Amino acid sequence: MCPEHGVRTEAVPFARWDADFTRDFEALAAWLATRTDKTTITRMLRIHWRTVGRIIARVCADELDPDRLDGLVEIGIDRSLSSRMRRCRREISVQRPACRWAC
Ligand SMILES: [Zn+2]
Repeated sequence: MCPEHGVRTEAVPFARWDADFTRDFEALAAWLATRTDKTTITRMLRIHWRTVGRIIARVCADELDPDRLDGLVEIGIDRSLSSRMRRCRREISVQRPACRWAC
């Protein structure tokens, strides 16, 4: 720490502004959020529950196309419980004039 200026913060290309984590770490957390639940992410990455939400918000604001829902006609959400896997499976389908996808 500089005795004259104290602690100084500088932007770096590998981290978002005001983030405590690198872009790669945040990308991993956001990707995991599309595959598993928040509790699993907190245990795997050893971060707080609320931190997962903040990371997801930053990644979405930074990387998602704001026009991605233009022309959206319908959103259908189907939740079903698989008795074999005992896991909740979500299926989301979005219908656009020329596009339909599920995840
Ligand atoms: Zn200084």
